[in-house]
Amino acid sequence: MRRLEHEVDFCVVGGGLAGMCAAVSAARHGARVALVHERPVLGGNASSEVRMWICGAHGRNNRETGILEELELENIHRNKSVSYAVWDAVLYELVRYQPGLELFLNCSVNDGRTDGDHLAEITAWQLTTQTWHTIRARLFADCSGDSILAPITGADFRIGREARDEFGEDIEPEQADRRTMGMSCLIQARETDRPQPFTPPAWAHVYATDADLPHRGHEVRKTNFWWIELGGEDDSIHDTERLRDELLKVSYGVWDHIKNRGDHGADNWVLDWVGFLPGKRESRRYLGDHILTQNDVRAEGRFPDLVAFGGWSMDDHHPGGMRYPGEPTIFHPAPSPFGLPYRSLYSRNVSNLLCAGRNISATHAAMSASRVMATCAVIGQAAGTAAAIAVREGIGPRGVYQHHLAELQQTLMDDDCYLSWHLRAIPELSRTAKLTASEGDPEPLRNGTDRPIDDVDNGWHGSPGAWVEPARRSLPRRRCATGRREP
Ligand SMILES: Cc1cc2nc3c(=O)[nH]c(=O)nc-3n(C[C@H](O)[C@H](O)[C@H](O)COP(=O)(O)OP(=O)(O)OC[C@H]3O[C@@H](n4cnc5c(N)ncnc54)[C@H](O)[C@@H]3O)c2cc1C
Repeated sequence: MRRLEHEVDFCVVGGGLAGMCAAVSAARHGARVALVHERPVLGGNASSEVRMWICGAHGRNNRETGILEELELENIHRNKSVSYAVWDAVLYELVRYQPGLELFLNCSVNDGRTDGDHLAEITAWQLTTQTWHTIRARLFADCSGDSILAPITGADFRIGREARDEFGEDIEPEQADRRTMGMSCLIQARETDRPQPFTPPAWAHVYATDADLPHRGHEVRKTNFWWIELGGEDDSIHDTERLRDELLKVSYGVWDHIKNRGDHGADNWVLDWVGFLPGKRESRRYLGDHILTQNDVRAEGRFPDLVAFGGWSMDDHHPGGMRYPGEPTIFHPAPSPFGLPYRSLYSRNVSNLLCAGRNISATHAAMSASRVMATCAVIGQAAGTAAAIAVREGIGPRGVYQHHLAELQQTLMDDDCYLSWHLRAIPELSRTAKLTASEGDPEPLRNGTDRPIDDVDNGWHGSPGAWVEPARRSLPRRRCATGRREP
């Protein structure tokens, strides 16, 4: 088989939103980057292959910004028909045309070589070209969701739920177990202007009455079928193919129920799409220098090394999924925003390995809040920015925490990431210039807070044509030959 070798500064594994943001931010800060992604389309669970919508921090003024917002604004601009074909292209364009970034699609990482506590290279099989790629890098980030680099490197990780007493987390079970949240094969339907019959496959499950789908609201206009879920009581990595078969039986069975077993107001609806790639919620989580817990989340995560934020509730699905007849999830309250520490974004025992996405160093309980995709995206941008600093300085991720934390935080804020409770440092020239405006008070523009907080706007608003301008610096005046002052 063909073998190709590559050498970069920073290699990111997994092209979900976390991996994309990590790769792009590092490349924008001068690192030579490779992004290795096993699918043909980018975005992970947000892509056309899984079709989950992007959620993040609840509440007014808590929107995630930075690279994620660039993507979302571009999508709003170009994707008026709300089509996955356009969204996939927006995602692809961001990465594919980013200078300094080489994208390996259809390329699955499955091996690597370590040197002491250091990952030296990874190996990936590219399906479309029948090629083995070996990529050497100074730093790696595992953004694969399932943490493929943990078994390859021997990095410490956990699977499952902590015992309540271990970290004093009252939403965890009394005994630790290996149960997780499950995975889902989603379905999408479309309304038409005429009745649409549906014949289910013979192997689909039968849900004869609504009582067979307790607590699973299946009004087509109100759900995205996230509750079609299994796998939390199985091995959420190694049992995936078997679980996919089961999930497909459920998905087609649910649609059969909606169309053929009772009046669900769906006569004119047609099944548009079924996901054959299960979207994963939870599996291996890295152990870093800090393990984020439920109590950190509840205390708003005001860490000195805060580099990203969440704000989703602790959305803790029952591991039984469809097998559990009660409510499929419990939304345990969490503050919004809550801060996420940089020390949760790198391995504690592999010296050049970062992680970003749902696999960061967190307990099951904390991860049930940090796992939503807008949060994963801002985590990814933080990890990628840290990687670029580490590459420039010739240090590892922990060295960035020890020696360059302030720079990391300021760089993120300069790049339009919001770090709660932190002020962006305003450059000397902007800080000392005299500001004038055609109307209103421009001073909030340089107060270091770049969004409204509560009822304080922190911005300047003007009518069309209005302006803000730094006053021109007065030059030292010189006497001219005539003794008059030059203007
Ligand atoms: C059914 C379902 C519903 C959800 N609902 C929501 C929701 O409404 N809103 C929300 O924000 N979040 C939701 N979530 C959670 C969210 O989707 C995930 O937590 C999030 O996608 C994790 O992001 P990530 O970048 O870490 O991983 P992913 O999005 O899974 O991306 C990781 C990528 O890495 C790739 N990869 C894996 N292994 C390798 C390898 N060996 N080599 C190369 N590439 C690899 C994978 O193919 C994948 O595309 C839901 C999750 C599921 C499953």
